[in-house]
Amino acid sequence: MVHMDTPISRLPGIGDKKAAAFGKLGIFTYGDMISYFPRKYDDRSVMTPIAMAIPEDTCCVQAMVTTTPKLSRIRQGMELVKFRIADDSGVMDITYFNQPYVKNQLVLGETYNFYGKVSASGSRKTMSNPVFEKAEHPRVTGRIIPVYRSTALLSQKVLINAAEQCLEGCGHLVSDFLPPEVSQRNNLCQAQYAYHNIHFPENMMALDIARRRLVFEELFVLACAIRTMHGSKTPVDGLRLNSCNLNDFYATLPFTPTGAQKRAMEAALNDMTSGLNMNRLVQGDVGSGKTLVAAGCIWAAAQSGKVSVMMAPTEILAEQHLHTMQKFLEPCGLRIGLLKGSMTAKEKRTVKAQLAAGEFDLMVGTHAVLTDDVEIPNLALVVVDEQHRFGVEQRAALARKGEKPHVLVMSATPIPRTLALIIYGDLDVSIIDELPPGRQPIDTLLINESYRQRLNGFIRKQVEDGRQVFVICPKVEEDEEKGTSSELKSAEEHAKYLQEVFPDLTVGCVHGRLKEKQKDAVMSAFVRGEINILVATTVVEVGVDIPNANLMIIENADRFGLSQLHQLRGRIGRGQYKSWCVLVSDSRNELSRERLKIMVKTSDGFAISEEDLRLRGPGDFFGNRQHGLPETHIADLGADMNVLLTAQEEANAIMDEDPDLTAYPALRKKVQSMIEKAGSTFN
Ligand code: ADP
Ligand code: MG
Repeated sequence: MVHMDTPISRLPGIGDKKAAAFGKLGIFTYGDMISYFPRKYDDRSVMTPIAMAIPEDTCCVQAMVTTTPKLSRIRQGMELVKFRIADDSGVMDITYFNQPYVKNQLVLGETYNFYGKVSASGSRKTMSNPVFEKAEHPRVTGRIIPVYRSTALLSQKVLINAAEQCLEGCGHLVSDFLPPEVSQRNNLCQAQYAYHNIHFPENMMALDIARRRLVFEELFVLACAIRTMHGSKTPVDGLRLNSCNLNDFYATLPFTPTGAQKRAMEAALNDMTSGLNMNRLVQGDVGSGKTLVAAGCIWAAAQSGKVSVMMAPTEILAEQHLHTMQKFLEPCGLRIGLLKGSMTAKEKRTVKAQLAAGEFDLMVGTHAVLTDDVEIPNLALVVVDEQHRFGVEQRAALARKGEKPHVLVMSATPIPRTLALIIYGDLDVSIIDELPPGRQPIDTLLINESYRQRLNGFIRKQVEDGRQVFVICPKVEEDEEKGTSSELKSAEEHAKYLQEVFPDLTVGCVHGRLKEKQKDAVMSAFVRGEINILVATTVVEVGVDIPNANLMIIENADRFGLSQLHQLRGRIGRGQYKSWCVLVSDSRNELSRERLKIMVKTSDGFAISEEDLRLRGPGDFFGNRQHGLPETHIADLGADMNVLLTAQEEANAIMDEDPDLTAYPALRKKVQSMIEKAGSTFN
C-alpha cells in the first residue's frame, strides 16, 4: 500500500540518481508529485485529418502505415527511417532521424497516432520525429498532455509516468481541507477531481474547473496564513486623544496641504480619537509629502499633552526628519529632541533624562530609541518611516514602550493597491496620490555608453551652475572573481574614473560596505554641498532629501528593478531646479529596454509598480523586497488577484468564528506549513 508520504523512489524505474533529480524539483514523496503542477499543457486531444493538417502547426493525426519503413544511411553517418502513412483524407511522409529502432516498432498496415510538427515540401506533407503510439492504447496522444518544469536529468515522459502512477496509487487520498461551505459558496469542484484534472485534464473545461479550485485553495491557505500572522483586523482599544481642529495646524504651515494629505491626516485623527488603536499605513510616492502627514498626527497628539516618537532607519534620515519637524512643529510650540546611536553616552543620558522628565513632545531617533533603558512617559504615537526597513519585532518593541501607542507607518514603496491590501492586511491604508503643486517634472533619458562624453559635459554644466549630481552604480567594487571582464560599474571604480575626468571637483563615494559612521560622514558632506558628485550604490534609495541635487545618473540601469529605479529617481526633483534622470544602459535585452522605457514614459509610482508586476511577475517583484509573499505554485498573484480578495473574505469569515481553525485540522496544518515555509519573508 502506498500513501502520500511514500518516497518517490518506490516507483518502478526510479533509482537513486532519478530520485535525486526528483528531489531537485522538490519532489520527495507521492504527495509531492501530486502537488507538482504542470507548467503548461500540450493539447493532443484533437485528431486532425491529414488533409487539414497545416504546415508549421503541431498536431495529432491517426493514420495507417502504408509503406514498409526503410532505413537508409545518409551523409555523416546520419540514419534515416522513412515511410508513408494515410488516413481517409490524405497521405503524409514520416521521417525519423537517428532513431533506427523505430523501423521495427512501426508495422505496415497498423494504425498509430502521430504527434508532431507538420512541414511541407512541395505538395507533400511531412512530419519529422513525431511521437507515436498504437492507436488502441493511447497514452501520450489523443489527450491533453501535461508539460512539467523539469531538469536535464528527468524527461517529460518520466514525469508524466510518475504523475500517473502517484495519482493511481493515492489520488483517492487527496484531502479536501476547504471548509465545505466555502467550497459551496464558491462553486469549487471536489479536490480529487481537481488533482486528477490538473495533471491529466479530460478536456479544456475540466482543466479550467480544476485550476480554479486549486488556485482558490492555495490563495485561501495564503489568506489564512496572512490572517494568522497579522492577527485579526478587529479593532483593539486604544488611547483616546482629545479631538482637535486640524485647521489650526494647517494655519501655521508655509503652504496649503494637498487634498490627499488632508484626507490622510483626518483619517488618522479619526483613528486616534476613536478610542481604538490606530495602525495606519501612509503610502505615497516619493515627494508626495508624507512627512507633513506625520507632523499633523504628532501635532494632534501634543494637543492632548501626549508624546510621539518618530523613527528613521538611518542617522542621516533621523536628522533630516528633525529639521523638517522643527520647521513644521516648532512654530506651534512643540519641543523636539533627537536621539541617535552616534551620540556620546553623556549626550544620550541628558536626552533620556529630559525625555523622562516630559520635556519633549516629539522624540526623533534611530534604532537607539528602541533600547530598553529609554523611558517614554505619555507615549501616544509612534511614527515609523520607510516601513520595509523595519521588522515586525522592532515595531513591537516600540509598541511595548508605551501603553499601546498608535502606530503610523510611512512607506514610499508604491505597490499595486490590491497587493497592499494583502501585504499590509492588518493596517488601514491612506494613499497619497497627489503631489504638492509646482513640482517640476523630472526629465528621464535613456542613453548608452556612446553618449559618455556628452554626459560628462552635462555633469560639468550642472556643477558649474552650482548644482550637485548623484551617480548610482549597481555594485560596490570590481568583481574579483570575474576580474576585469565585468562591465558593471562598481561604485568605487567609477568614482575614481569621475575624479580623473573632473580633477577640480569633489567626488564622494558611499556604499553599503562602509561603516555607518563613514557613510553618514559622506552623506552629510553631500547635504552640506561640500561634495559635487556623489557616487553611490542603492544606499541612497531611502528618503534623503537634497534639493540642490538635480541630476541623477544611473549606471547599468537595466540591473535595477523598476520600483527601485523609481525610488532612486525620487531623490532628485525636490528643489526649485529643473531635474534630470539619466539611465545608462548598453543592454539589448528587449525586456530590459521595455522596462527602462517605462521609466522614461511615466513618473507615476503606482503605474510603474503595476507595470513591474506585469512584466516580472509577483515572484521577482517581491523577490528582493523584505515584505515578500510566499511563493505560490499555481496561483498567479497578478492575474488571480480577485480570487485572492475573495479568498481573503472567506478566510476572515471562517477565522472570525474560529481563529485557530480548530474545527479544520487539515486546513490548519496547511496554514502552519505555509507560515513555516514563508518564514521571515512574511512581514
Ligand atoms: P516624502 O513623501 O517623499 O517623504 P516629503 O515629506 O519629504 O516627501 O516632502 C517632499 C517635499 O515637499 C518637502 O520639501 C516638503 O516640505 C514639501 N511639501 C510637502 N507637502 C507640501 C505641500 N502641500 N505643498 C508644498 N510643498 C509641500
Ligand atoms: Mg520621506
